Amino acid sequence: MMSNKIKLTMLLLAAVAIFVGTLHFGTSTALHWLLKNEAKSTGTDWARHIEARLPELLGIDVASGSNGKIQVPTAKNFGSLASDILAVGNIYQIDFINPNCYCDASIGTYLNPPGKSDGQPIKNEQNISRRGRSHEFDHQASKAGVLHEQPSQAHFTHVASNHGYHAPMAASEAGDLKLPIDRGIAESIVASKKHDIVIRTDAPANQPSVFAEVFYPVISEGETVYLLRVLVDLQNQAVRYRNLLYSGTLGVLLLVILSFGYPAKKYLTTSKRQKETDRRAHFLANHDVLTGISNRNSFQETAPVRLDRSRNDDGSATLFLVDIDNFKEINDYHGHHAGDLVLKEVATRLKSAFGSDDIVARLGGDEFAVLVDRETVDFGTGRSFELPASEGSQNIAVSLCVGLARFPRDADNLPDLLRNADLALYDAKKSASRGVRVYDPAMGSDFENRLQLVRDFRTALERSEIVPYYQPLVSAKTGHVESFEALARWNHPERGILSPAVFHEALEDRDICEQLGRVMLKKALTDMAGWKSAGVPFGSVAINVTEADLTRPGFALEAINGLSGGKLARGDLAIEVTEGCIFGSNKDVLLAKLQELRNAGCNIGLDDFGTGYSSITHIKELPRTSVKIDKSFIKGVVEDSVDQAIVQALVDLGRSVGFKLIAEGVETVEQLDLVHDLGCNLVQGYYYSKPVAGAEVPGLIARINNTGLKRAS
Ligand code: C2E
Ligand code: CA
Ligand code: CA
Repeated sequence: MMSNKIKLTMLLLAAVAIFVGTLHFGTSTALHWLLKNEAKSTGTDWARHIEARLPELLGIDVASGSNGKIQVPTAKNFGSLASDILAVGNIYQIDFINPNCYCDASIGTYLNPPGKSDGQPIKNEQNISRRGRSHEFDHQASKAGVLHEQPSQAHFTHVASNHGYHAPMAASEAGDLKLPIDRGIAESIVASKKHDIVIRTDAPANQPSVFAEVFYPVISEGETVYLLRVLVDLQNQAVRYRNLLYSGTLGVLLLVILSFGYPAKKYLTTSKRQKETDRRAHFLANHDVLTGISNRNSFQETAPVRLDRSRNDDGSATLFLVDIDNFKEINDYHGHHAGDLVLKEVATRLKSAFGSDDIVARLGGDEFAVLVDRETVDFGTGRSFELPASEGSQNIAVSLCVGLARFPRDADNLPDLLRNADLALYDAKKSASRGVRVYDPAMGSDFENRLQLVRDFRTALERSEIVPYYQPLVSAKTGHVESFEALARWNHPERGILSPAVFHEALEDRDICEQLGRVMLKKALTDMAGWKSAGVPFGSVAINVTEADLTRPGFALEAINGLSGGKLARGDLAIEVTEGCIFGSNKDVLLAKLQELRNAGCNIGLDDFGTGYSSITHIKELPRTSVKIDKSFIKGVVEDSVDQAIVQALVDLGRSVGFKLIAEGVETVEQLDLVHDLGCNLVQGYYYSKPVAGAEVPGLIARINNTGLKRAS
């Protein structure tokens, strides 16, 4: 790509070239051009045309003056003569001079125009009195020459001699210019038969003082019979050149506009557009499009500079990492537009809460960073607020989680500062109270532990240490086992059987979550097939799946083939999903997957019913089977009338759309009685059994079905 400078230089050079060209064109070639065009348009020969036109153009009536004797200069010569003359200046006067009557003095005379000549040369006193201006001829004034012959053919005034012949006074009074011709010049022209230009400065005072004389020999029968002299005004040259400059500049401008105007305009607009694009690209590269504040890129560039400054000043700084609580849910429930509004509002609040010198950036998603150049634990702005979502809909409750690390106390460089603030943020999110957390070195080991956990759990999956445990779901009416839920357990070689509470952080890793789903499905299907062949009446088994499972290519097929391939029947496998998993941005894909599984005969159950946002709005979109009321509502159902009312409402809601109701976390007989009375169909909980290993399932079924762990009522 050509640089702007080169382009501009080229443009300038072109303009200068046109300017110079125009000047030249405007002078020497103008007449040529005119004549040539005339010749062209009239279809006549160029040379002949010039012959006919030039005398007229120059104001010379050659034909009438020649008397057949004068040989007009050839067209070629005339052309060049004309351009010479015009190149020099304005034609002021044209004379025919008898080469034999040139003068060698500074006294000018006039000859009469044809028909008016009295044949008597008159001494021109006026000119004599002015001749003081001449410097060239002064010394020759004493030896004035003689005009031998009057050139009667000439009807122009022309210079004659200082003796004997005088032009009429009338001509002089008319202000015509009279200049003596230098003998030497005349002789050399006659001899050479070539034209010549002489610049002179000996004009009379009231005439333009600087002239050029252009002589041309008029030849007849090989003899120079006259000298054609054209006086060209050089003094007005200044004016002429100025005018020329004006018209030249105008021409240039016109030409530039015409020939370069469009490309130039295009170039200028393009470069303007380019500048705008560059500016925009720079802005986009450094700003978050949605909120208009700095982005991660810009933060990574400016924050180290700010820290360096603090370091040099022996100052301090604080980095706040800010995260919006439940942002995913806000997005899922209120829509992306509301999510955007929340992000913008948070950006605005952060911007106004901190100084203009502080760096406020959106690092991505719902994560913001604020770097202030002082050590502080004061977050500076309210961490919760409400935002009207849209006309008529309920307000969005927004709360922020903050982790902070101080420079140089907690870290003396940006990467460490970010890492430590992130640990603090993680800690803040983990705690029930949330809020602002200040970095503590102990958090580092938590983080390390988390990393170690992920590594260990991955190994555990590979070593087949992850196994399904099964918890029964019992009919509230009959007290018989109807089905099981498969729950993951880590059979740790040293620590024994570990529940998800120990490893749930590892499940935040999508890859691990996906592998777990694979393992659980496979092992559950194997166990089920074993029970089937052993005639164990397990009913069906539900496995917990997440988005990671459902979007894994082949998951549904795997599940279906696992059923149809073995001895398992339709309906032996159930899938448990949470609302949070299904009703996110990927809703349509996930619902389609569930429908596919439902069509293949799998039951679909909605887990943790009542805890999500979308219970009411989305429940009808699910393939119809069961909803499991979360154990958090069952826990207080006996004592707490609110919990009771909630369970009642959830039961009514589930029933109204034809779902089977499951009460989870039933531990006591009172709870069992109550949930039965409230209308739950199935009960799951420690009252009947904790999750047990696959091998214990047959015995458990027998125990529950036969030992009468029944309702009290
Ligand atoms: P969940 O799906 O809601 O599972 C029910 C949890 O409640 C189980 O905990 C179960 O042991 C527990 N529970 C059952 N009855 C009672 C009771 O009467 N009292 C009390 N206090 N708790 C009871 P668990 O097995 O620790 O599982 C916890 C969570 O881990 C599960 O919640 C589920 O979200 C997740 N999880 C477990 N297994 C898997 C799995 O294979 N895949 C996935 N993706 N998640 C799993
Ligand atoms: Ca579950
Ligand atoms: Ca649950």
